Amino acid sequence: MTVKAVSKTFEDLIIEVHEKGLCGECGGCVSFCSAGDIKAIEMSESGPPKYINKDKCLKCGICYFICPQTHVLNDQLNKKFNYDPPIGNQLKIASCHASSEEIRKRATDGGVVTAILNYLLDNKLIDGAVVCKRKGPFNRVSFLATNKEDLIEASGSHFDFSSQVVGLEKYNTFIAANIELKKVRSSDLLNLAVVGTPCQINSIRKMQELSILPAHIVKYTFGLFCYLNFSFNDEDRKKLEEKFNFSFEDVESMNVREDLILYFKNGNTLKIPFSDLHDIGRPACYACPDFSNIYADISFGGLGSPEKLTTAIIRTKIGEKVYNNALNKGYIKEPIELNRPNNKMELLAKVKEWSNKKLERAEKTLKNK
Ligand SMILES: Cc1cc2nc3c(=O)[nH]c(=O)nc-3n(C[C@H](O)[C@H](O)[C@H](O)COP(=O)(O)OP(=O)(O)OC[C@H]3O[C@@H](n4cnc5c(N)ncnc54)[C@H](O)[C@@H]3O)c2cc1C
Ligand code: SF4
Ligand code: SF4
Ligand code: SF4
Repeated sequence: MTVKAVSKTFEDLIIEVHEKGLCGECGGCVSFCSAGDIKAIEMSESGPPKYINKDKCLKCGICYFICPQTHVLNDQLNKKFNYDPPIGNQLKIASCHASSEEIRKRATDGGVVTAILNYLLDNKLIDGAVVCKRKGPFNRVSFLATNKEDLIEASGSHFDFSSQVVGLEKYNTFIAANIELKKVRSSDLLNLAVVGTPCQINSIRKMQELSILPAHIVKYTFGLFCYLNFSFNDEDRKKLEEKFNFSFEDVESMNVREDLILYFKNGNTLKIPFSDLHDIGRPACYACPDFSNIYADISFGGLGSPEKLTTAIIRTKIGEKVYNNALNKGYIKEPIELNRPNNKMELLAKVKEWSNKKLERAEKTLKNK
């Protein structure tokens, strides 16, 4: 598929994205800039990327087209992925969980993402998966997982308040995971899976559309639902602790469904509504319209399913094949009582409700830009 002849450059990104406060600082534009090592642009210490050698810019527009906050390729992608508003194409929706207790114990929800990646690795259908692991509470770093141990390390969202927290001033739940892809650019032999938020999968699909390396080695895209990502400092952390009368040091793990859910070491749970987290939400997220990861092969969230189960939306033929094989080979399970037609209708309704909420929020935000 070809891109319409639209002449865009990094300057357009500055005007249309940076100056409107919409840059999510994902680093995609810098990582895949055609000027490469000549370095036309670079990340700033804080805030959007910037020109460092404007005269080296090839005016190719790659940075513009792959940015998740630009929409020139949307029609093309919507057509290709049979976008059906508001939740996108869905061949099937299910509540499911990993069969392995080891995976379930640690996972965010039912461990289905980890179990399917494990199936792909076991069967040599991929050489690795771009996932991310804990660096500290609310802090993760992306990496290429190549075995089950790596995958288990990457699963779930357990807190570790030991050494890393001390002196940590900025907390961020967003990981610039696509940058990890850059490191495997030269290897044509690899087959990869990537796990990412809707903005990350959006970028990868655009790269594939434009044949930007190494998007061709991404064989499977596993998307997470995402309503909001957070970025906050020590002061914000203390405000949250005071307002909700808890200490992050007592938190064992966290999850996001219809609220931010904190699970404490003593077994208690605290649900903080998104409305109370508005000030620490990343500004770019308020302009983001995609909740359920519409361009992924399979999308995963907790929303609509009971605790410790994952909601999966199978969207593409590739996703369907992988999911069914993982199911048939016993890597994942679908409890019968949760997957009757009525349950599926309820699941769909829930995902639609939150997809509409996010679409409306994005429209409202963009109207004011
Ligand atoms: C930032 C964020 C926001 C989310 N918001 C919602 C929401 O609003 N509603 C909802 O229902 N579900 C949301 N989810 C999805 C949910 O938390 C679970 O990740 C999902 O249900 C899969 O659960 P699982 O047990 O099957 O995954 P697991 O088996 O635990 O695997 C999760 C995988 O995701 C990877 N991962 C973790 N964090 C990130 C990240 N920030 N970026 C990229 N990859 C990551 C891990 O490395 C791991 O491979 C969100 C997830 C994230 C990371
Ligand atoms: S060379 Fe291309 S990708 Fe790099 S900044 Fe210029 S327009 Fe963007
Ligand atoms: S959102 Fe990402 S790709 Fe877009 S301008 Fe910001 S850093 Fe670059
Ligand atoms: S809300 Fe949108 S922009 Fe923010 S992290 Fe999630 S997918 Fe990315």
